[in-house]
Amino acid sequence: MKKLYLITILILLGCSSKSINELNISHSFDGNRAYSYIIEQCDLGPRSPGLEGHQNFEKYLLGFFEKLNMEVRTQNFKYFNLLLNQEMNGKNFYVSLNPEISRRILLGAHWDTRSFADEEIDEAKRKQPVLGANDGASGVAVLMEIANILSNSSTVGVDLVFFDAEDVGIKGESETFAEGSKYFSKNMPLKIKPEKAIIVDMVGDKRLNLPIERYSFQKNKKFVLDLWELAERLGLKAFSKMIKYEIYDDHIPLNDLAQIPAVDIIDFDYPNEFYNYWHTTEDTPDKCSPQSLAQVGVLLLNYIHEN
Ligand SMILES: [Zn+2]
Repeated sequence: MKKLYLITILILLGCSSKSINELNISHSFDGNRAYSYIIEQCDLGPRSPGLEGHQNFEKYLLGFFEKLNMEVRTQNFKYFNLLLNQEMNGKNFYVSLNPEISRRILLGAHWDTRSFADEEIDEAKRKQPVLGANDGASGVAVLMEIANILSNSSTVGVDLVFFDAEDVGIKGESETFAEGSKYFSKNMPLKIKPEKAIIVDMVGDKRLNLPIERYSFQKNKKFVLDLWELAERLGLKAFSKMIKYEIYDDHIPLNDLAQIPAVDIIDFDYPNEFYNYWHTTEDTPDKCSPQSLAQVGVLLLNYIHEN
């Protein structure tokens, strides 16, 4: 994804109506198990288009869902990869839980990783691919653990979507990113259109800080506030009700092209505003933590069950 600009505004929001006791915070999101999925993805190598890790991810994901007895569907597409300067095949994967339920929510993450570590200070390293423990694997890991938990639930309509070709854009040209989400949004493969969507990206940072992403707030104020106020009630300290960066991510095509209200949960400061592992060779599992993944997982599970 691409950061569009940086302005920080503090917003003050009203008190919430439900006490924490009314909420079910016992949804058993296992941060350690989710973290193991980051390790496993990184063991495949960088999942950058054209590399072996990218090819092997499909087998990995299909194997995971096969054990849960869940069917993964594949949406194949072609796109022009500007980083590699060639046409390539992309694959979005999606899993529909309880497909007969008409009220549905889409949870999405990108599974590809960036072909070049182009934010490296050391020029020699800029040609290397990004391992993407946080930028790629963390969002996928959260969705996989949610699949574990919801595999026995018959009451929620959830579509898990794994987008390819998110991180294929040219630095500084934000709309050249999110090719998989653009194709998905223009060629909706889901039989029932979800009422809303939540994208999770870069949610594994050990020092997790989740401000509100600006575009999400501008498009879907109530949806955003519902999420962040729920996080507050649940005592999830990583979430802060501050509007920060606007990020071009998979939620924008869902909003603009598919007309699905979509919110991006993302920690762009990795680990902080002054030094960032984003799009560098330093984006490795040791920078991530089970506790961070669990904060996001717990919020999503509670939100799904409340709404
Ligand atoms: Zn990225």
